[in-house]
Amino acid sequence: MPDSSNYKLFINGTWRSGTGTADIALINPASAEQFGSVAVASAHDLDDALNAAQSSFFVWANTPAHERGAILIRAAGILAQNIDPAAAALSQEQGKTLAEAKGEFARAVETFEWNGQHAEELSAPVSIDEKRTIIHEPAGIVAAFTPWNYPAVLNARKMAAALVAGCPVILKAAEETPSAGVYMAEALHEAGLPAGVVNLVFGNPPMISEHLLASPSVRVLSFTGSTPVGKQLAKRAAENLQRCVLELGGHSPVVVFADADIPKAVSAISDYKFECAGQSCNAPSRILVARPVYETFVEKLVAVARNIKVGRPDDPTTEMGPMANPRRIEAMERLIGDAVSRGAEVRAGGARIDQPGFYWAPTILTEIPPESLILTEEPFGPVLTVAPFDTIEEAITEANATDFGLAAYIFTQSHDIQKRMARALSAGALSINYLKGVSADAPLGGLKQSGYGYEGGVEGVRSFQSLKLVNAASPVRLA
Ligand code: NAD
Repeated sequence: MPDSSNYKLFINGTWRSGTGTADIALINPASAEQFGSVAVASAHDLDDALNAAQSSFFVWANTPAHERGAILIRAAGILAQNIDPAAAALSQEQGKTLAEAKGEFARAVETFEWNGQHAEELSAPVSIDEKRTIIHEPAGIVAAFTPWNYPAVLNARKMAAALVAGCPVILKAAEETPSAGVYMAEALHEAGLPAGVVNLVFGNPPMISEHLLASPSVRVLSFTGSTPVGKQLAKRAAENLQRCVLELGGHSPVVVFADADIPKAVSAISDYKFECAGQSCNAPSRILVARPVYETFVEKLVAVARNIKVGRPDDPTTEMGPMANPRRIEAMERLIGDAVSRGAEVRAGGARIDQPGFYWAPTILTEIPPESLILTEEPFGPVLTVAPFDTIEEAITEANATDFGLAAYIFTQSHDIQKRMARALSAGALSINYLKGVSADAPLGGLKQSGYGYEGGVEGVRSFQSLKLVNAASPVRLA
């Protein structure tokens, strides 16, 4: 069982202390108290990880795809057996409720399973005709960077797809939430993954990304996090022409039309929005409601938001835990304070909850002046803005008005409106009459400042493969 008092680095198949600076303290967001620490990698540790990944590449790339898949499926089984302690560790360091953490690990297990089950078909040659074939080859070493909001699912989406493709991975997981990566590296090791194929490091994020991307042996950068950091990494990756998969921020609209089932829309929106205290890149943040149902919608949403039970993540009656870190509290104070100072109306919440830990009350804002920062900056917290619209054209313009393009949601029974909105909304994913997050078997990627490249499904594996076109003068079978 991983030791939460000090999480270590995993390099070349063994756990070790970091030789970087002093370990980083782990803080429980529910109490703001330290409960453990995580090792810090030095340049020497990172070189060892790069060498281990390089030495394992040939072996792993040449391991038959069905065997790679079998290792992932075994790792999924081991992870599934450890869901209870893994979820407890994640909840303690991230602040999400135990139920949310278990649900997240279940999705991580599914991700390992789905990729494992499709390993063989996704590595098989594809014929264009009898003389031309495409071979899918592993792209090379992957440097993967995951954030603290959904560490289990996001580690799994990057690692499982890269491993199935035949690529070694160096994962820098978030220092604030190290345990998911530790449980996964352990499960893969126990499942028979050769040493060096997965390496897990923590430390100083800019130093680690700079060091890894400076190595031409790294061929793919996969990053989930904020848009400014994604841009910095993409610039660095350009020097070695490393391929980038960038899953960045979002500022997702929900458009509620007059014919929508309002109670159903309110409960679907609030259930999804306030999961993980609103710290999800896909979470809706701006709600646009047809004017005839606007007041009814707002009243119902406000009533639901005021009744959400905010509390300790390990209390089974808690519906929303604390925010993950003090930076998010500062962001809420700044964005909500700005909107209110310009004249926005706080209909629910609007303030930090006065108790130890990083608790923020579920917040609903209306009458938001157009120049308010919250309408353009990603809020990444438990706050929703709600505004009325009069025409579908106005709703489309407002929904597409930010620089982001990750997710969008609509509520309407009309097939014509559904069809029109599916085309008109600028988003990598659209959900109709419910709110759906990522799934193992479907691709998701952002538009505009939300990034590029895909994670999930077939396209998620293709992100880590190079395609080789083989032309022959006469019919040839490469399968
Ligand atoms: P941040 O941008 O500093 O960090 C986000 C993640 O990127 C962290 O895990 C961090 O360790 C890592 N990171 C930061 N600088 C890095 C670098 N130079 N090289 C490699 N990794 C680096 O911000 P934060 O305060 O942790 O989070 C704030 C913002 O990040 C949020 O407002 C949100 O926009 C965004 N975010 C997005 C997602 C997502 O799922 N898309 C997840 C977490 C955070």
